[in-house]
Amino acid sequence: HFISFEGGEGAGKSTQIARLKAFLESLGKTVIVTREPGGSPGAEKIRAMLLSGEARDLGPRGEAMLFAAARADHVDTLIKPALDRGDWVLCDRYSDSTLVYQGEAGVDLNYLRLLETAAVAGVRPELTILIDVPAELGLARVQERAKTDTSGGPDRFEGEALRVHEGRRKRFLDLAAEEAYRFAVIDGSKDLEAVSASIQSAVEAAFQD
Ligand code: C5P
Repeated sequence: HFISFEGGEGAGKSTQIARLKAFLESLGKTVIVTREPGGSPGAEKIRAMLLSGEARDLGPRGEAMLFAAARADHVDTLIKPALDRGDWVLCDRYSDSTLVYQGEAGVDLNYLRLLETAAVAGVRPELTILIDVPAELGLARVQERAKTDTSGGPDRFEGEALRVHEGRRKRFLDLAAEEAYRFAVIDGSKDLEAVSASIQSAVEAAFQD
């Protein structure tokens, strides 16, 4: 099964993915955890370019193609083979992040959907967990993390204005409403245990096995 996790900065995706992985493994499942942009050797190289800002000279449309190129590699070399083996794949961000982040950056949504169709080659999540937090809370968490972060501080996407973060939050919620059949919207402002419990219930409701 394929589950994607979406949400803004500081939503708590990585923590919750690790917790869901442990839960599924306790049920005897084989679980692959991966992330976007990146997740495969080729895509991680593109990630480094994207997050450092090195790819900015391309402009937003070209940059969106790099996200798509990374996704195509990730799908072909990691996600699809894992799903073919019958593993569970938990992916930290996927196509919805592109529609939201590059959409908020001004790229036309029809263009983004076209790239997305090409990149995913039919490999789409059966369930998308959207961890929703108010922008202020997400940003406060990111700033807290930055104090103890040894990985060089926030990347270029994390330093943006509150207004941009709120815009992304609205886009995520709009997408979730449009494609409600595959979305579970989780209140990420609650404590860790409560958020984990909601996510487990959403997973149990979505999958019988
Ligand atoms: O998941 P994480 O927050 O670590 O994502 C890495 C960075 O890439 C984030 O800062 C996010 O804002 C950015 N990103 C993006 N467009 C995407 C996916 C991620 O700008 N499609």
